[in-house]
Amino acid sequence: MAAVNHISSKLPKHETSIFTVMSKMAYEHKAVNLSQGYPNFDTDKHLKELVYQAMLDGYNQYAPLAGVSPLREQIVDKIESLHGKKYDKNTEVTVTNGATQALFLAITAFINPGDEVIVLKPAYDSYEPAIELNGGIPVLVQLEGKDYKLNFEAIKEKISSKTRMLIVNTPHNPSGNVFSKEEMLHLEQLLEGTDIILLSDEVYEHIIFEEAKHYSASAFPNLSKRAIVCASFGKTFHNTGWKMGYCVAPEELMAEIWKVMEVNVFCVHHPTQRAFAEYLKTPQHYLGLRDFYQEKRDKFLALIKDTGFKALPSNGTYFQLLDYSRISNEPDIEFSRRLIEEFGIASIPVSVFNKDKVDYRQLRFCFAKTDDTLKEAAEILKKVK
Ligand code: PMP
Ligand code: GLN
Repeated sequence: MAAVNHISSKLPKHETSIFTVMSKMAYEHKAVNLSQGYPNFDTDKHLKELVYQAMLDGYNQYAPLAGVSPLREQIVDKIESLHGKKYDKNTEVTVTNGATQALFLAITAFINPGDEVIVLKPAYDSYEPAIELNGGIPVLVQLEGKDYKLNFEAIKEKISSKTRMLIVNTPHNPSGNVFSKEEMLHLEQLLEGTDIILLSDEVYEHIIFEEAKHYSASAFPNLSKRAIVCASFGKTFHNTGWKMGYCVAPEELMAEIWKVMEVNVFCVHHPTQRAFAEYLKTPQHYLGLRDFYQEKRDKFLALIKDTGFKALPSNGTYFQLLDYSRISNEPDIEFSRRLIEEFGIASIPVSVFNKDKVDYRQLRFCFAKTDDTLKEAAEILKKVK
């Protein structure tokens, strides 16, 4: 008999993340892994040296709760130069354990039992469990059509007296859509006069293509006054395993986030913060990402041009959606499993992110990979008929 007989799960419907499932299967089948979103090339050696140097310099004890001052300063300066909004480095920034922790802190700080949180689907898989753990109710709105367009009427219909928060993600994982300026203005209008907090997940802020521009919620005064903006150094500096990120928000919101941060982890890895404070002094380190990933994306698209897969348009992120309906009518979960088992390539079935698991016969491929891996992947995809 078990020692503890009555476990009342707080996440009874929770399944293992699709990223874990697919990466594990890829490993077992020695498949080329374009599923979970992470680069298979290394972070800058200079950045690693900066971390080591910070350790040698003795930055090995707790950092302040909100993060070290030089890093907070770099973050607020970067946001000001890119988006024209000056956050107070002493009261409006927190360095976190990746964007995932920033999202969790924001949801935990503000969502009470019975509060509704509007989530636009398809969505990153940490939002809904975080809402549920806090007794909140995720209210799901599916983005429209096979290309996942924003429909403000559909969002408006879901706003009720219980709506406490709206979560948006731009550039968007998995579709690669980037909110336009008009859409941000529309969002501003939609929320004006409400008490709704905007949780803006902007982890792919620097991975944008062609003429697209990233419009941060921080750039719009009537959004920034109610927004918690989350960012990830992991995405920007090719070190997802370091789990470093941050959030910015108006002082009165940040004060509540700090209460949760204090009892959650208190602070994050100190030497790495010192290293990022130094590394961020060179804007090319993040502004160069655009060309770097555009080249990878274009290379991948050129390589798969003659396959049966059809690429969906995208303006950002390091993901590419491919429609496989010309090849097969199998459900995407089955098809993606077959691609691993029979062909040796791993991707993510998009239905898992969608409301009611709607399946448009699309798979998500991560192209944050070396050119050799992209070539190898394309050779495999050419054989899938
Ligand atoms: N939001 C989105 C949309 C993501 O794709 C990811 C990446 N895993 C995260 C948040 C989490 O970022 P981090 O790895 O910094 O926790
Ligand atoms: N955000 C990454 C993705 O979308 C995965 C993050 C994770 O594995 N938790 O693939």
